[in-house]
Amino acid sequence: MEKQIKDYILGGMSLIWQRQATFLAATILSAYYFDPTVALFWYSLVLLSEFIDNTISRRILRHGKWSLADGRRFMMYLLGSTVISSVTICGFVISMATKAGPTAYFTPLFFLFAAGIFAAVNNHQILPVLLLRLLMYGLSFLYIPLHDLIGYWPPIDDILWLQLFTSLFVMYFVIDCSFIFLKLYRHNLRQLKNLQKEHERTKVAYKAKTEFLATVSHELRTPLTSISGSLSLISSGALDAAPEKRQAMLKIAESNCARLTFLIEDILTLQSLESDELTLSFEPLELGEFLHDVRDAMHDRVETAGMTLTVGQWPAGIHIRADQARLLQLMKNLVSNAVKFSDKGTTVTLSADITGGMARLAVADQGIGIPPGAQAKIFEKFTQLDNSDQRKVGGAGLGLNIAQLIAEKHNGTLTYESTLGEGSTFYVSIPMTEKKPSASPQDKEKPTTSKRLRGAARRKAG
Ligand code: ADP
Repeated sequence: MEKQIKDYILGGMSLIWQRQATFLAATILSAYYFDPTVALFWYSLVLLSEFIDNTISRRILRHGKWSLADGRRFMMYLLGSTVISSVTICGFVISMATKAGPTAYFTPLFFLFAAGIFAAVNNHQILPVLLLRLLMYGLSFLYIPLHDLIGYWPPIDDILWLQLFTSLFVMYFVIDCSFIFLKLYRHNLRQLKNLQKEHERTKVAYKAKTEFLATVSHELRTPLTSISGSLSLISSGALDAAPEKRQAMLKIAESNCARLTFLIEDILTLQSLESDELTLSFEPLELGEFLHDVRDAMHDRVETAGMTLTVGQWPAGIHIRADQARLLQLMKNLVSNAVKFSDKGTTVTLSADITGGMARLAVADQGIGIPPGAQAKIFEKFTQLDNSDQRKVGGAGLGLNIAQLIAEKHNGTLTYESTLGEGSTFYVSIPMTEKKPSASPQDKEKPTTSKRLRGAARRKAG
């Protein structure tokens, strides 16, 4: 409402001098051809109504913040000033017609026509104001030819009848024009609203892009600094006499390379998930086997952090349909978070159960926990609860967002329970396969990738 009222006022104010010129011209003509006293009387009333309208308009424009009640009040003011202004214009025109006597009312009707067109072009922003003005002008339009017709009642071929029919035609034309302008104005308003929404969306996307660049460049720079520091120390020969220190430096470089790979993998996955380019290849996975795959993939990382990764309980013989690589990526993100937000010496436990007809994988840690009310924030991308420069752990704020998108791609969900200071458990619920697929003889002969991986890890551990 605020925009419509302001558009109306500004439109009216920008045409103030054109209006004054029209009123003056009408007054001069009426004074010369009809009656100067009557013309000046109505002209002064028109000027008074212009003054009232102008004062109200300025007051409305000066008003600071608008409430709904303010909007309604201003609308009443404008309706009031419209009544005053149209009554004076109609009075002016009718008095001129009365002075002209029973004849063809060429001049007064033309003046009314001009006022009607003026209203159609400039008052279409506020429908009640437009309707009120058109109603007053319409009544005057009819009154002028009708009052003579009623008095004389001439035959149908008389000019007075022609005048009435022409007035009706002109009235229809003015009303039609008004509604065309009204429609155009409303169409423009809608377009403006859409543009504003689009602008807001672009601003949000631009902010996200800036945040993304800031976070990712920080996340790239930190490991790169470690890698280049370690490598320059080794290549300078300073560690030639201490092979164990050189080995430690290489380990640092290696783990930072892994961190970079992790980040780039996350960014690529997010990009393909968001552009819907990621095609998943579903296969049946046995819960216990999959949990051990996760443990094997994350074992070294957890051990390096001085923590333990164990596999707890899982229901035997349950299969889910999943894209193994993506589900593994999801679980790796959860374990990686568990490591980042827990202290040395604590344990991360992988387990599974069946809840609400779904298989539910769990990653439980004994870390810092998540404060209540942080649910929406932690699943947003590029969002970390502690995003200060002083935060101890790295991360681009992508892990949980990607994990959630992957879970959704599996028709599943990602939820968590957490107690501040005691730890968090993240749950991935995935639909189970309808029928338990039985292992084919071939499967029995050829160990699956996961079995091979586990065997290798166990051999390594042994
Ligand atoms: P990042 O790993 O880069 O911090 P994530 O999207 O994986 O981004 O996690 C978002 C935020 O959620 C983390 O910054 C952290 O504040 C919180 N969070 C996630 N997992 C855990 C957890 N296991 N324990 C405590 N806080 C966590």
